Amino acid sequence: MLLVAVSKFHPAEAVMEAYRAGHRCFGESRPQELMAKVNALPKDICWHFIGHLQTNKLKMVLPYVKMVESVDSLHLLEAIDRWGVENGRVTDVLLELHVAAEETKQGFSCEEILPLLSRQWRGVRLRGLMGMATNTSDEAVIRADFRKISDFKQLINNNFPQLDRFDQLSIGMSGDWPVALEYGATIVRIGTAIFGSRVY
Ligand SMILES: *Cc1c(COP(=O)(O)O)cnc(C)c1O
Repeated sequence: MLLVAVSKFHPAEAVMEAYRAGHRCFGESRPQELMAKVNALPKDICWHFIGHLQTNKLKMVLPYVKMVESVDSLHLLEAIDRWGVENGRVTDVLLELHVAAEETKQGFSCEEILPLLSRQWRGVRLRGLMGMATNTSDEAVIRADFRKISDFKQLINNNFPQLDRFDQLSIGMSGDWPVALEYGATIVRIGTAIFGSRVY
């Protein structure tokens, strides 16, 4: 299980403190902020991009990240693929599945994801699914959201055996990660519970 410490809106010094304690994997959601931290911090940090990514910002992000967890449209997936082909890189990505009740959250529906799984990608490697549960204290709702993501990943693994290493399930944040572990999370993205309230 991989713990991504979500450092967005926290200063580089907060990241450095966790780094000194031995942590190496951090999540950022804005290209500008990622770039500032990449420049200020040690090079052996493993960055995951977890926010909405516009295609005109790819070159600010893709050279520096281990994974883009938040691919939320075919347009973005195709752009990352094209960038990879042009730059001789294969980027690990997760497809963000929209399951939460909030309309504001990003992501694909299951129906949108299925057709792109059988396409040939050369600049991206599809590594799994990312999702966010509804922001609620009702644990039954959170469980239903996580079950939907987890079941869909299982369906993909059963029906697309040619997908090499579609093995990652990124679910679980500060408020719901213990529940996410029950549904097979391989990555959890924790901000507030590590760094406190976001400061800027
Ligand atoms: C901010 C953010 C998190 C971290 O949320 P916390 O509740 O602070 O743990 C996780 N995932 C995504 C996609 C985020 O944007």
